[in-house]
Amino acid sequence: MGQNPGMSSLPVEWRIERSVGLRDLNTFGLPATAKALVRIRSDADVRRVLDHPELGRLPKLVLGGGSNLVLTRDPPGVVLRVEVMGRRLVEERPDAWIVEVGAGERWHDVVAWTLDQGWPGLENLALIPGTAGAAPVQNIGAYGLELMDRFESLDAVDLVTGRSVTLDARACAFGYRDSVFKRSGFGGLAGKSLITRVRLRLPRPWQPMLGYLDLERKMAETGQSAPNARTVFDWVCAIRREKLPDPQAIGNAGSFFKNPVVTPEQCRDIIARDPHLVHYPMPDGSCKLAAGWLIDACGWKGKSIGRAAVYERQALVLVNRGGATGAEVVTLARAIQASVYGRFGIRLEPEPVVV
Ligand SMILES: Cc1cc2nc3c(=O)[nH]c(=O)nc-3n(C[C@H](O)[C@H](O)[C@H](O)COP(=O)(O)OP(=O)(O)OC[C@H]3O[C@@H](n4cnc5c(N)ncnc54)[C@H](O)[C@@H]3O)c2cc1C
Repeated sequence: MGQNPGMSSLPVEWRIERSVGLRDLNTFGLPATAKALVRIRSDADVRRVLDHPELGRLPKLVLGGGSNLVLTRDPPGVVLRVEVMGRRLVEERPDAWIVEVGAGERWHDVVAWTLDQGWPGLENLALIPGTAGAAPVQNIGAYGLELMDRFESLDAVDLVTGRSVTLDARACAFGYRDSVFKRSGFGGLAGKSLITRVRLRLPRPWQPMLGYLDLERKMAETGQSAPNARTVFDWVCAIRREKLPDPQAIGNAGSFFKNPVVTPEQCRDIIARDPHLVHYPMPDGSCKLAAGWLIDACGWKGKSIGRAAVYERQALVLVNRGGATGAEVVTLARAIQASVYGRFGIRLEPEPVVV
């Protein structure tokens, strides 16, 4: 079994940190302050918060790596920073390796570690920032693969009752950049539970997923038509480094809008007016449109409102030019939505969670 030495963690003191600046805890670099912040390293840590006379009744914001968040204000209540660690192989089946990781592990480290252990299957999701625990929240996806394609189950703690539960893929109700953890209202679990561990299913034998334009280009450039998992990992990292701004250098939250899905009629209608529309036919007959193309077509690339701007190399990414506030990012996002709606009749839906 591939046990990680980090799994046998020593007990760490549970404490409440007061007035914690969050600028360095979100990749957009937006200013906000947590009145109270508690680092969560186990299910028991969550229950300590719920049983606490002051914190127990306050609203709770679960925070991973802060790479899919727009902070527009100081979060009300207490911030729970997820730092549950550990990685291990839980089962070796003829058809798959089942791997369990703590929710606080960095997602990219998990991808690299599984590859190092000889359990490939996550390479298309390399270099996505954030934690393993947040990966199911929006069913992260890239280069033709989504988390749901490699998901086995997860453990979470109910933020009201303190009960630990295990959920399978069906209960998570995954969709495109969506899951039960992003939905509020009846049946939704947004803000209601904290994921502590995620189990991944890495299929055997390994099959490369190469049906994505950028990867097809890499195959053509290198002449390698049957790359191994390590090569796919390296290609994905190289493509991402070229296309996306590094949050260490320029604050951002990756793609700011989901790619809208429209009916074939809507798609034909837009193509009649804009023949260059970038679109992808879906198996169910609908059509996915490239949100970045729609934004670019409205002339937004490189434009800014205050210190928030549209990245000049990829219109789908909004960036912090330095010192932006969450309000500026939201104002820019709304202006983009209005012009895309005005020209194409399509409502763009933000991908990050706005607090
Ligand atoms: C440069 C860049 C590139 C990106 N590329 C991609 C990409 O290719 N594909 C993609 O899908 N995403 C991408 N993202 C978005 C982001 O990396 C992912 O959504 C990631 O999974 C967020 O992880 P996080 O730990 O930072 O979550 P956070 O931003 O901390 O939280 C996001 C949401 O999840 C909730 N949450 C976090 N952890 C938990 C938990 N343990 N339990 C319950 N709820 C939790 C939070 O409350 C919040 O609502 C990119 C972001 C950046 C900055």
